[in-house]
Amino acid sequence: DELTEVLVNLDKKNLDLISDNRPIDDYHVLQAVASFSCKPRMVNGPPRKSSEEQVDLKPQSDPPANELERRPPVVTIMGHVDHGKTTLLDALRNSQIAAGEFGGITQHIGAFSVQLTKGRKVTFLDTPGHAAFASMRARGARGADIVVLVVAADDGVKEQTVQSIKFAQAAGVPLVVAVNKIDKPNADPMRAKRSLLEHDIVVEQLGGDVQCVEVSALQSRNLPALQEALLLQADVLDLKSTKKGAVEAVIIESSVVHGIGKVCTLLVSRGTLRKNAVLVAGTSWCRVKTMVDEHGKNVQEADPGTPVRVSGWREDLPAPGDWLIQTDSVDRAQKVVSFRQEQKMKEKAASDWEATEEDRLKTREEYLKNRQFLLNRGQRYGSTLRNVVHKQNRIEKEVDSGDPKLRLIFRTDVEGTLEAILEILETYKSEKCQLQLVDFEVGPPTEKDVELAKETGAILYLFNLMLPPKLRALAEKESVRIEHFNVIYRLVESLKNELSLRLPSET
Ligand code: GDP
Repeated sequence: DELTEVLVNLDKKNLDLISDNRPIDDYHVLQAVASFSCKPRMVNGPPRKSSEEQVDLKPQSDPPANELERRPPVVTIMGHVDHGKTTLLDALRNSQIAAGEFGGITQHIGAFSVQLTKGRKVTFLDTPGHAAFASMRARGARGADIVVLVVAADDGVKEQTVQSIKFAQAAGVPLVVAVNKIDKPNADPMRAKRSLLEHDIVVEQLGGDVQCVEVSALQSRNLPALQEALLLQADVLDLKSTKKGAVEAVIIESSVVHGIGKVCTLLVSRGTLRKNAVLVAGTSWCRVKTMVDEHGKNVQEADPGTPVRVSGWREDLPAPGDWLIQTDSVDRAQKVVSFRQEQKMKEKAASDWEATEEDRLKTREEYLKNRQFLLNRGQRYGSTLRNVVHKQNRIEKEVDSGDPKLRLIFRTDVEGTLEAILEILETYKSEKCQLQLVDFEVGPPTEKDVELAKETGAILYLFNLMLPPKLRALAEKESVRIEHFNVIYRLVESLKNELSLRLPSET
């Protein structure tokens, strides 16, 4: 048929295109077409998958409507310091124990679920304040569905209350207000509610649509009403997910536990997590070894809205806010992780380079500042160089005086940096270790510099200059040390370090 004819013809033309059944890239396609004396014309074919799409794991698309089931809301508690966030969390957590539902002590794994009437649950993120929440949002994960804003009835709206409101608004997460400490004699819940008006939070009691519950976290008073309010808010949000398909989750906390190893608390957002599942999060992967809940109890399954602590992680620990996706094999998980590690390294290299550029600018600023400084000092500047030259002349005589000394050769890219370096050397006063300037010059290093360094035992310092491979090799052969910097303070740090290494030990 036609295809065979084309292939045979291509083969004859010796283009080496069709070996290994590999896809042919654009360049070779053009070559092949041209080899038939045809004029190539590019048309848009099906979009090619980038290598990232082929290797990396991506969140699944939305589940079909018939798979969706109601899931528990995820709640985070925010508010001003000392208004009772921790006490409220403890009270909520203990309400379970008090109700006799669970024995034993709860563990802080980063989140916990509270079982309510009618079989419904609310999951609370356990870290008060918005640190965890913020990092999750920053990574594009939805940290929580609802924010409980704690406002102390005796204190009213304070700075961090306002911050929390702004934060929740920016994240598009609805608030439920808990006016706390109503047991206190000086409590004024109404005043607290009114002070929220200024920040566009109109609670129900004042004709708005923000639910507000008066509680005493300390006395565990009115907590069921708060929980009911949360369920109502959850119903308004119509929170749904599927228990089917690959698991996706968000990492809430990660740590290394003595005797268990690396563990992560994760909050399942879809699918049902079971033992032996293979998971990828960040640049880490895991075959689920154990799963425990916040009571330290082993669990067999975790479905959407349920936090569990999972052991079995390899490589790095995932970070809070990392998105977790289940995959079908360890092999695939490892491939994804090494792909991501590679990406990370590339990004790091890129940002390092940017940092260097920034450093360079800083150096330039420093230089200009120095330069101005030197100019301001007029005459003194000229004498600095003379002093240095003068010192340089003294070197020969002092070579074998036996005292500790640091000998230096400098090569810099521009005169300004050389001036700045010399100026800094001028300020060196210590008698314990002599600083000896063997040579300095503007311009790239040469073989002569390496030889001079060898003869005098000096370190060759380069500033903002490339070291040609040939010179590097020569230096290695001659055991000459070459230090390369492009930020002055790092060079000075290096000098200080060299000096301290040469100081006689105190003992
Ligand atoms: P956080 O900084 O918001 O986590 O506040 P804490 O939970 O640490 O509470 C700060 C202080 O307020 C502690 O001394 C608590 O005992 C106290 N506190 C918290 N809730 C109540 C309450 O409902 N009533 C009273 N009287 N004190 C409370």
